[in-house]
Amino acid sequence: MPDAQSGLSYVSPTPVSPWGTYLTQVERVAPFLGPLSRWVGTLTRPKRALIVDVPIQLDDGRVAHFEGYRVQHSLSRGPGKGGVRYHPDVTLEEVMALAAWMTIKNAAVNLPYGGAKGGIRVDPKLLSRKELERLTRRYTSEIGIIIGPQSDIPAPDVNTDAQIMAWMMDTYSAHVGATTTGVVTGKPVLLGGSLGRVKATGRGVYFVAREAARRLRMNIEGSRVALQGFGNVGSAAAEMFAAHGARIVAVQDHTGTLYDANGLDVAGLAETVARSGGIAAHEGPERLSSEQFWETPCDFLIPAALEGQITAERAARLKARVVVEGANGPTNTDADLMLADRGIIVIPDVIANAGGVTVSYFEWVQDFSSFFWTEDEINMRLDRILAGAFAYIWDTHVKHGVSLRTAAFIVACTRVLQARAERGLYP
Ligand code: NAD
Repeated sequence: MPDAQSGLSYVSPTPVSPWGTYLTQVERVAPFLGPLSRWVGTLTRPKRALIVDVPIQLDDGRVAHFEGYRVQHSLSRGPGKGGVRYHPDVTLEEVMALAAWMTIKNAAVNLPYGGAKGGIRVDPKLLSRKELERLTRRYTSEIGIIIGPQSDIPAPDVNTDAQIMAWMMDTYSAHVGATTTGVVTGKPVLLGGSLGRVKATGRGVYFVAREAARRLRMNIEGSRVALQGFGNVGSAAAEMFAAHGARIVAVQDHTGTLYDANGLDVAGLAETVARSGGIAAHEGPERLSSEQFWETPCDFLIPAALEGQITAERAARLKARVVVEGANGPTNTDADLMLADRGIIVIPDVIANAGGVTVSYFEWVQDFSSFFWTEDEINMRLDRILAGAFAYIWDTHVKHGVSLRTAAFIVACTRVLQARAERGLYP
């Protein structure tokens, strides 16, 4: 039931659901919105949610039906932007929350986008490559009524990649009768993808950590870093920290936990992962239990694997000065309060891992002009945008005496609601 007073109850969330968490976060910033709180209902319901049936013919001739979604949470600041997830647990409510967090992330970094997200309830590992292609093409066709380079631009997320983006781009282009590279980002470079996209999120993690370090009078050089996750985000972040003189003292992935007080060999670890699929096969360093990882003395702790990893119990044991959220949602709400009490700074995901969507934005801009930038130019612009976004969020945190997460929400929600208010209502 919508609540005309607060507008905070559009869909009754299931307890501790992602959508419920999001609504709590919005509630927390409401007191900082001043007269703009009149428009808060804009944030507490999606602008548009599409549920589609995705029927495909399987290789054995049977027909299977999958449920797909595309949610445009907000289009107040520009076209929708957000990934597409293929997972058996995807639900409409989860996609609503993920779309809303994209609104916050895009606004926190001041990218000219609203927020959107999509998904299909499917286990892609059970499909052949041909079936996956048919699924992707039919889904693209079904959501084709609301996506487009000027209206909503999908990108890869969990279990989707550059190949899937290529199929989406091709399907959309076939419908409109013209190659339209800007309809998706995260494409292969030879189809209008951007250089620098693969490492962008990890580089961004480093840039915001460097900015925080400067304000906290910490040095990156000689600092100790502990990383959970050595995939796309974690390995690129590790490479950047190591290149600037930090020691990567602990790394954990799904295969094990390694520790070396003098610093692990990042390039060697990357080779081991490329060869064996995980860090456990790397010989030499000390092995820790998975729980010991959380007690590693370090300056920067970077969760870059899964959500919900920093529980209140682990937060009580951390020996870190700063947590930089490379993953989405790695810190539980109660753990957040515990870390604040303990004086441990948390750089929230909406800014810490925004490097990926920022270079997606560059890809979209390059596609419009069909003029492509060098990797150096991309990395330089990424640094400038993230450093500027971080500075504004830091100043808001100091001004209001709130956590960086609440500050990022204040900045983002204010921008979205200002746009909403200035556009006004139609009719
Ligand atoms: P990835 O699949 O490349 O790597 C995931 C890493 O997590 C791997 O090293 C894996 O071993 C590790 N891992 C998995 N389960 C684990 C467990 N139980 N314990 C410890 N480690 C475990 O994924 P990625 O692209 O690096 O993404 C990591 C996180 O960053 C996700 O939360 C993702 O949503 C978020 N993120 C990614 C991007 C991006 O551009 N790739 C952008 C924004 C946010």
